[in-house]
Amino acid sequence: MNGLVDLQAHDLLVHRLKKRLQEIPAAVKKLEGDARKEEEALAELDRKFKHEEVTQKEKELEIKSGEEEVKKLQKRLMEVKTNKEYTALIHEIDSTKVRISQLEEEALRLMDSVQDFRRRREEVRKNQDKKKSAIQASINALREEETAARQALEAEEKKRPVLASVVSRETLRTYEQVLNKKADHKALAAVKAGVCKGCQMRLPTVTIDQLHKGTDLIICENCSRILYLED
Ligand SMILES: [Zn+2]
Repeated sequence: MNGLVDLQAHDLLVHRLKKRLQEIPAAVKKLEGDARKEEEALAELDRKFKHEEVTQKEKELEIKSGEEEVKKLQKRLMEVKTNKEYTALIHEIDSTKVRISQLEEEALRLMDSVQDFRRRREEVRKNQDKKKSAIQASINALREEETAARQALEAEEKKRPVLASVVSRETLRTYEQVLNKKADHKALAAVKAGVCKGCQMRLPTVTIDQLHKGTDLIICENCSRILYLED
């Protein structure tokens, strides 16, 4: 029975190592996805910012052309012959100036927003740097764990034939049959104070007696696990 307990402990360890080796690549992939999302968020912020910056430059160009227009109109003012023409020009100059001052206000507002953006972007970037290095640290830890698990698995798998050789062929067959049916990969159940630790059921006295005799393999009637007495 001791041999079987050792084999079960070994098989459980191998099962857990294999499961972990399956989980790690997916976990790494998820973390890499998280890092990419961070970068995309910053790129999106930059696109919005670029748009504001371009709009601000356009406003400044509009202001410049408005000012040139005013200069031209003022020059024409000196060449006008009639009062009517003069009044029309003055009116045009005034409305251009009004438009310019509106544009200036808009440009100023955009400049504020651009500056505000620069500050915000810097904060976001710093925050992301922290997040990204934390993500990278997690990825590195997972990769180290993966290497260690692979090495441990390789070493463990070599031990199995030795451990199995101590157990009789018939017992081994029963053990493996039960093992294949158990999702938790536990074919053995310890018995403590008359209770099967595999399913928490109280066992009949006759079963306990049989266990004490220790001649046959005893199966729990409730959970079908191979029972053994824990010292
Ligand atoms: Zn049981």
